[in-house]
Amino acid sequence: MLTTVSRITAVMAKELAEAEGVCARPLLRRVTDRDTGKVSRVALACGSTREAVCPACAGKARRLRMQQCAEGWHRADEPEAAVDPGHASVTSDEPETPDTAGINEGRRIRSTRRRQDMPDLPHVPMSNRTVGVVFSGKDGREHRPSMFVTLTLPSYGAIQDGAPTSPASYNYRRAALDAILFPRLLDQFWKTLRRAAGFDVQYFSAVEPQRRLAPHLHAAIRGAIPRKVLRQVAAATYLQVWWPAFDQAVYTDKLPRWTGTDYADPMTGEVLPSWDEALDAIDNTPDARPAHVMRFGAQIDIQGIVRGQPDAERAIRYLTKYITKDVAATHDDDQDHRHQSHVDRLHRELRYLPCSERCANWLRYGIQPHHAGPGLAPGFCAGKAHRREHLGLGGRRVLVSRKWSSKTLARHRADRAEVVRAALESAGIIAPETERLAAGVPAADGHARFIWEPIEGDHSTYAEVVMLAVAERRRWRTEYETARDIQQSRSAVPP
Ligand SMILES: [Zn+2]
Ligand SMILES: [Zn+2]
Repeated sequence: MLTTVSRITAVMAKELAEAEGVCARPLLRRVTDRDTGKVSRVALACGSTREAVCPACAGKARRLRMQQCAEGWHRADEPEAAVDPGHASVTSDEPETPDTAGINEGRRIRSTRRRQDMPDLPHVPMSNRTVGVVFSGKDGREHRPSMFVTLTLPSYGAIQDGAPTSPASYNYRRAALDAILFPRLLDQFWKTLRRAAGFDVQYFSAVEPQRRLAPHLHAAIRGAIPRKVLRQVAAATYLQVWWPAFDQAVYTDKLPRWTGTDYADPMTGEVLPSWDEALDAIDNTPDARPAHVMRFGAQIDIQGIVRGQPDAERAIRYLTKYITKDVAATHDDDQDHRHQSHVDRLHRELRYLPCSERCANWLRYGIQPHHAGPGLAPGFCAGKAHRREHLGLGGRRVLVSRKWSSKTLARHRADRAEVVRAALESAGIIAPETERLAAGVPAADGHARFIWEPIEGDHSTYAEVVMLAVAERRRWRTEYETARDIQQSRSAVPP
C-alpha cells in the first residue's frame, strides 16, 4: 500500500517538475565532506539532451546550443588564438579523424589506389582565416555577411505526405545506407568547400530527418561564399565506401562462432577473413567497385544572413528546433498509419546493414568486423544507428567545426564546476563564498575534499527531491518577479 502511494507521489512529482521546468529525473548523490565529516544528499540535474527523457534539461541544452550558434556565426576576430590547441577537439563537435579504415583516405597504405580524389573544382589560393570578408555598403557602413545553407539527399522514390506512394518500389536499402553514411558525406563536403572557397570555413550544423525520414543538414556558415561555388561544391561532392560487399547474406541460420581470438564458420571451423584481409582482397581485385557511392540531392537552399537581423534569429531557432527530439519522433505530429509504416520499413531495413567498420552485421556477410571481440551477433548490433528512434543517424546531431567559437577547455571546466558549486550550495553544504572548494580543491592531506557516491533513491526520496527543486524554482521566480516589478515601478516614476 505504502509503495503504491509513494509511486503515485513520484508520478505526480514528475508531472509537476515538467510543468515547472525542473529536472524530472535528478541523479542523487551522497556527498561526504572529509574536512568536517558532514554527509549530505545532493540532487544533480540529469543533463539529458532528449526532450522525451527530460524536457527541462533538454530545453537547457537547446538554449546552450542556440547561444553557441550565435556566438560563432558573425564573429569578426579569429577565434584561433583563444583556443587551447592541445584540447581543441574537446571544445567542438567536429569529429576527430574517424575510424575510416577502408574508406576515403584511411590510414591503410595499400589502399592508396582506392583513395578518393577530390572533385574536380577550380583551385583558389588558400588562406588561414576563418572569418568572413567585409564589404563596404553604399551607406558607408561595413557588412560582414554569413550564410545559412540546407543540404538534402536525393530521392528514393515518390513521396506523398511523408510516405512513399509505392512502398514496394521505394529504395529503402539506399535510403538506409545514405542515412548511416550521411556524416561521412558531410566531411567530404566541408573539406571540398574549404578548398573551393579558399579559407578555413567554419560551421554550426544540425542533422535532422525530413518528413520522408531522409536526413538533411542545416548549417550556419561563417563568412560569405558565392552561391555558385556552394552549388558547384554540393554537386561535385561524393562519397565512395570501400567496404567488402554486403549484398549476399552468408550466415543467416547458424551463425559464426567465437574461437577466443576470431570468428569461425560454425560447420567447418574455418576462420573468417579478418577486416584487414577483406580490405586487402579489395585492393587486389583490379576491377573492384566501391560497396556504396552517395551524393547529395539536387536541392540546396542558400540564404545570406547579416548579424542582428530577424533572419539570423529565425535561422538559429530553426537550426536548433529538432535537436532535442528523437529521429523517429521528429514528425510525430503526423501520427498517421502510412507514416508509421514508413518508419517501420526503414527500421527493418536498417537491421542487417553494416552501421560501421565495427558492426556485428559483418558476420552475416562472412567477414569479421574491425576490432572484433566476443558476443557479436548479426541483427543485434549495439550501434545506435539500428535503433528505431535513430533510423540510421547513430552519431551526433549537432556538428560544430573546431574554430567556431573561442570557448576554451578551461572555460568548459569552469562551467562544469559552476554546476557542482550550485548543487552544493543549494543543498546548504557550502556558503557561496567558499565556492572554490566545490571545484575539487584538495583537503589538507592533499586528497579531494568531497567524496561523491551515487544513491539509489526510492519513490518517496525521488518525490521529495523533485518537490524541493520545484519549491526552489518557485522561490527564485517570485524573487525575480519582485525585483523586476520594483525596477519597472522606479523607471515609471519621472526623475
Ligand atoms: Zn533532467
Ligand atoms: Zn551496427
